[in-house]
Amino acid sequence: MSTKLALSAAANLRRIVNDNYLRAHQGAAAGKFVVWAAIIVPLELLHGFDLVVCVPENHAAMCAARGVGAQQCQKAEAAGYSMDLCSYARIDLGTALAGGEGSPSMGQPRPNLLISDNNNCSLLVKWFDAVQRMSGAGHFVIDAPFCYQPQRPADTRYLEGQLRAMIRAIEGLTGQRCDMDKVGQAMAYSDQACALWKKLLSLAQSRPAGITAFDTFAHMAPYITSLRGTKELVDHLRLLVDEIELNMAMGKCPVPDERYRLLWDNIAPWHQLRAMSSRLAGLGANIVSATYTACLGSLEGRIDHYPYDGGDPLAYLARMQNFSVCPHGLELRARAMAALIERYGVDGVIFGSNRSCKVYSVMQMDLQRLMAARCGAPAVMIELDHADGRKYSEEAAFLRIEALLEAIDAGRTMPAA
Ligand code: SF4
Repeated sequence: MSTKLALSAAANLRRIVNDNYLRAHQGAAAGKFVVWAAIIVPLELLHGFDLVVCVPENHAAMCAARGVGAQQCQKAEAAGYSMDLCSYARIDLGTALAGGEGSPSMGQPRPNLLISDNNNCSLLVKWFDAVQRMSGAGHFVIDAPFCYQPQRPADTRYLEGQLRAMIRAIEGLTGQRCDMDKVGQAMAYSDQACALWKKLLSLAQSRPAGITAFDTFAHMAPYITSLRGTKELVDHLRLLVDEIELNMAMGKCPVPDERYRLLWDNIAPWHQLRAMSSRLAGLGANIVSATYTACLGSLEGRIDHYPYDGGDPLAYLARMQNFSVCPHGLELRARAMAALIERYGVDGVIFGSNRSCKVYSVMQMDLQRLMAARCGAPAVMIELDHADGRKYSEEAAFLRIEALLEAIDAGRTMPAA
């Protein structure tokens, strides 16, 4: 937890994430079937089976947040993987090559099946292919159409068909039947978790904000593990929201002298959560919202919760393949960003140009231009890598961030036209 305000929730976060990795290792040691699934894969369906489920992107983010991202990347680079590849892939490949050494969770148990999804990027599919070659596990790929506009019915049906095929593949490999009652229960928990998530984000609307985006970066971790679809995650988010609301009622907030309300665009800078939030707070600046966390539980450039109506789980999960930012076209991204600027009273935008995640970064110059034209929001672009700290310079980044704060001040003193 970056702001040191919700201390019980911070302790609980560490406990549930650590326990989840421990259970994964114990389950694998006991002979359970191990699936590695990408973040975008509908994990709720996997709750219909008795499996160990690991999410490699989460493991990589955890390594980066706990300060070992670059070291694990170097292990993959020593084996010939290019430094230009996504740092998530390098961290996980390096960790697998080192037999888990150096990872806070001792890596992830060896997979029996990999499930990737080209929704966010195609690099992820190639990364999972590399793990397939190392482990001999099968690899199921979900092919998701790009998202320039709300999903077409034909695309929903195409995705539903693949989710059905995924269930059949797991049934065939494990000899288990998918228990749709358990899937329904997981869907209900996910929906409750999303509603609490949106409540948490809304606590940044007040002035000063009750949270920073760094809190949401930290506490999204369990959402992108097999804890999604469980009561444990719902209970965690309820504890967090209750604790922050209590803080707010007592007048406690992360940046009491809040003069600049900022929006963050890109994946969380995992290796900088504490350093960046502290330095910003010292400048009276708070990142109150982030495109990365606002999209959870929403659809196609909208920021409100897209609730589960209790109907066909496959239809809903196919539809929710369009929640994340990376596959969105420019207009959907601009719509979401403009809505966040308005809702959170944002003064300026920090675009993190991410050396690893080209798909998140590729439209940022256009977005910068659009946000200036549509919302009058000044912005800066800083260079970073979300999980490899070697590609980030704090001084260079803060030179630009301070220039942004000056531009906001200058805008405030300009006479109205
Ligand atoms: S390039 Fe971006 S979307 Fe692809 S795996 Fe890396 S972080 Fe995820």
